Amino acid sequence: MASMHANCPSCNLKYEKEPGNFYGAMYVSYGISTGIFLVTAFVLYYFFNDPALNVYLISILLVALILFPFNFRYSRVIFLYLIWKS
Ligand SMILES: [Zn+2]
Repeated sequence: MASMHANCPSCNLKYEKEPGNFYGAMYVSYGISTGIFLVTAFVLYYFFNDPALNVYLISILLVALILFPFNFRYSRVIFLYLIWKS
């Protein structure tokens, strides 16, 4: 699930310029996770009438796990766009 092409299949761009290149993507992933947490909490508060704390914790964990593949890939995509500006 965490594997990816070393080079772009279309234009042959080398994605990982140096080892550990994608550590920076963790910051993007952190931002996306924070967004997921906030949106889930707001949905529970406004549409499910502010349930118990356990419901918040379990729901946020589940949503974050379900969206992990999305988060993992898009944090790298966004990070690539950030570092390859030219
Ligand atoms: Zn390409």
